[in-house]
Amino acid sequence: MSLLFLKNAQVADGSGTPFYPANILIDGDKIAAVGPVDCPPEATEINCSGQVVSPGFIDAHSHSDLQVLDPQRTEKSRQGVTSEVVGNCGFSPYPCGDEQALHEFANGILFGGAHWGWRKAADYLLETQARARLASVASLVGHGSLRIAHAGNAHGALPETTLSAMEATLDESLADGATGFSTGLMYAPGASAPTDELIRLCRVVAKRDKIYCTHIRDYSTHLLEAIDEQIELARNSGCRLQISHLQTVGRVNWYRNDLALEKIEQARQNGIDVMFDCYPYLAGSTVLTQMLPQWALEGGTSGLLERLQDPATRRRLTDAILQSMVHQWSDIFISGVQSEANAHLVGQNLEEISKLRSESPTDVIFNLLVEEKGAVNMLQFNQSEENLRRNLAHPLSIVISDGFYVKGRPHPRLHGTFPELLGRICRENHWLTLAGALHKVTGKPADRFQIRQRGFIRPGYFADLAIFDANAIQSQSTYANPEGKPVGISHVIRNGQLI
Ligand SMILES: [Zn+2]
Repeated sequence: MSLLFLKNAQVADGSGTPFYPANILIDGDKIAAVGPVDCPPEATEINCSGQVVSPGFIDAHSHSDLQVLDPQRTEKSRQGVTSEVVGNCGFSPYPCGDEQALHEFANGILFGGAHWGWRKAADYLLETQARARLASVASLVGHGSLRIAHAGNAHGALPETTLSAMEATLDESLADGATGFSTGLMYAPGASAPTDELIRLCRVVAKRDKIYCTHIRDYSTHLLEAIDEQIELARNSGCRLQISHLQTVGRVNWYRNDLALEKIEQARQNGIDVMFDCYPYLAGSTVLTQMLPQWALEGGTSGLLERLQDPATRRRLTDAILQSMVHQWSDIFISGVQSEANAHLVGQNLEEISKLRSESPTDVIFNLLVEEKGAVNMLQFNQSEENLRRNLAHPLSIVISDGFYVKGRPHPRLHGTFPELLGRICRENHWLTLAGALHKVTGKPADRFQIRQRGFIRPGYFADLAIFDANAIQSQSTYANPEGKPVGISHVIRNGQLI
């Protein structure tokens, strides 16, 4: 077995406690010793003087379900990430019955193209174990994918036989090693699920002692009601609840963020096992169809495109959009399109595009969706800096990337989240201590997502480590240049191997 020796490290062990000086001996894929150990003669030595050695980062909310299988990609490992929790917001690459229906539903987030999909959780998990070289993969069963596999693009209440089949598939997936279950209650068709369906599925999660993660129904005007719904679901089913990418969208709603945190703290005091996560950016990113009420997507993309041909439906959609609108049009940017003809719109906001094309902003949305067959991504400036600070620093939060790929310009969180947290957020803004921030991306998510023997620097644990200069670490990924590579991270080790 190969021996690796890290000399003179400042050890951030993942627990959030102050750093301490130590040497670390790695034997094969495990940490063998931490402390005043000597370097064995046959070991490869890395001098870590002036550097922090932390557990490799765990990205507990990732949409890299398909990209983790690519041994060439480097955007996560460059940031120090060695584990990813995928299958978020209702999107997982299994269970897959009808490939085309799953692709239509999930490609806007999973960026998969034409050939992907696994019939069962076990098939996907086996493949990640065999092929995901750069990160350990923990996977949630996506409610949207589960629903599509059993009911296609039907909206609303499902027949009893379908519901029990969904329960059985979820139960089997969790038994086969899936980490939990996720919903995306702003995305069709999952958004149309009645509460009863969610309770039944969450009971399966509770029975298996797994975690339930949710992209809640609304982060804007109805944020508080949406949180209430999830807390009630956790209380009723007994499952552990993780509220995904908590934020308060829209200036008029910013005051609600404190009330949301109070609700979560209160539920916790009442015995509900609830926590939340957030990414360290003011802007969010998703698919452009999120601008529409989700009934517009009944029947999938073909249903949507047909509706967009009908002037009366366009008027209804326009009314709905304007009624729920909490942004300025200039806050919403196009970040990904499929066609060459529209590639020049990437990086422009809806106000600019509206002027450019002499169309109303809602017509821009409808026409772009038609031209791109539904596949458009956007980036929206959502949050206040003060709310972001409170959420990141809150004792119940974990820090995540929520990164995903687009044909265009991805949100900078994909390439920058972890160095952004440790550089700008900790070192420059002092919003969190470095040890506290590291805990939120190492030991805390490991405990929360039951990622065993990772997330801490302890003898016997897997040797997943990030070595960086706390005075230099920095994201170079910006909205204008999202693929800038981070600086200040010298080594990343996964399972005892330098990657
Ligand atoms: Zn989400």
